Amino acid sequence: MGKGAGKTHATEGGSSDGVENKTAFAYEFGGPAGTAVLMMVLPMVVYFLYLACGPYGVATVSLAAPFVHLPPALLDGSALHDPAQPWFTLEALAVVVGWLLLQALFYAVLPGPMAEGVELDPQTPGARRLRYPMNGLAAFFVSVLGAVLGHALGVIDLSYCYHEFLPLATGAIIVSVALSVYLYLSSLVVVPASTPANAPERALLAAGGDSGSPVYDAFMGRELNPRIALPGGFSFDLKVFCELRPGLIGWILLDLGCAAEQYASHGSITNSMMLVLAFQTYYVFDSFYNEPAILTTMDVTTDGFGFMLAFGDLAWVPFTYSLQARYLVLNPLELSTLTVLAIIATKLIGLYIFRGANSQKNAFRSGSTDPSILALEYITTERGSRLITSGWWGVARHVNYLGDWIMAWAWCLPTLFHTPITYYYVIYFGILLVHRDLRDDHKCATKYGKDWKRYCSIVRWRILPGIY
Ligand code: NDP
Repeated sequence: MGKGAGKTHATEGGSSDGVENKTAFAYEFGGPAGTAVLMMVLPMVVYFLYLACGPYGVATVSLAAPFVHLPPALLDGSALHDPAQPWFTLEALAVVVGWLLLQALFYAVLPGPMAEGVELDPQTPGARRLRYPMNGLAAFFVSVLGAVLGHALGVIDLSYCYHEFLPLATGAIIVSVALSVYLYLSSLVVVPASTPANAPERALLAAGGDSGSPVYDAFMGRELNPRIALPGGFSFDLKVFCELRPGLIGWILLDLGCAAEQYASHGSITNSMMLVLAFQTYYVFDSFYNEPAILTTMDVTTDGFGFMLAFGDLAWVPFTYSLQARYLVLNPLELSTLTVLAIIATKLIGLYIFRGANSQKNAFRSGSTDPSILALEYITTERGSRLITSGWWGVARHVNYLGDWIMAWAWCLPTLFHTPITYYYVIYFGILLVHRDLRDDHKCATKYGKDWKRYCSIVRWRILPGIY
């Protein structure tokens, strides 16, 4: 369990131990000032990547193009007032809201097993072991196949996602900001002390988002697992819903929209576009195929639900991760067979490490009796958890991040080397993974104490053996 789990409850007459610890609060991301800047800058980065990957950025094939052509076009306003491409439309906002409602409906009604999450609150054992519907794979197939079929039958035009990309991104940003405000305000609602510990209306606060600074807490997320009680006893988990569904599936629809537009304007779908589509669709499919794994991630067990996750899930992931597909619409690249094979090999190496490491840990932790899992060496911590010290987890403490990062290269390589912009993902994701490794290391050091030190002395490298 993470450092933030089960920290405080907002109750009438109750106290918050977060209040006593205010002076020692461990801020992240530069504290209130840093998070205020991030809240303004991150949406701008989404727009920058859009513009840099559009006519102002890639019209001329040059590494410096986005930096040479975009700033003047921004300064003289021509990049901002393109009548053919408005920044905001009510229609696009309605599409984003409708998409969220459709996915919420799928979350509530599609068939699938229920899974139990980890214990979120040690103060009330059992009370915060929540249940979640694991029907994401069904939502993925219904949404993606429905969209492709609808496009093939002429009922919908998937290239709408390409043409209306900018107002759709604005719609997603508006929704994520509105959601963050709602989440922060609802976390302040004080409930009667007699309310049962597992009642959805009782806010369980994440320690990392309970600093007392409204801006910081709204960014980090004050409440750990905000839920809305629906008729029939169904408890709608806002964070777990947003983590995978609307953003990840929306990302693939944006990619498909780019492929549809490339087909319409170019007459065929290039092999580079097919590689990007195949890799990214598989990545999202894999996330849903292993959906229960989300319940043990730091996002669910430790971080509160605020701007950081809401914006990341709903706006950042779909509208920046689809950048390579969008680039390939304006620059349809047909790759040589050798290049295709080299890129596929890169993807497979990354996948081998990523899936191998993640599956090995999942199998080990869930008590698999497979001989390869039984043969793993491990140390047993005082808390009872076992930490693997051989196999993938003996190579580096987050070797799974290395596999993920290698796969990130395979998503960018199909755009070749005409612009650095399409490689934004490799750079951003590298920074995210190093930062995530530091946060996880801090969490494990706090949780396991000297056992973690012992583990680190056996497995010395963090992500990349010999280098980091
Ligand atoms: P990990 O799957 O790396 O799990 C970390 C946790 O595993 C630790 O907190 C600890 O938890 C446990 N653990 C650590 N070392 C060991 C060990 N040696 N043996 C057994 N258990 C151990 O966490 P993440 O949630 O960060 O990553 C999951 C996957 O998601 C990764 O592959 C990552 O690349 C990917 N990811 C992708 C992102 C994207 O945007 N595409 C964003 C973030 C992650 P405990 O307290 O249980 O001991």
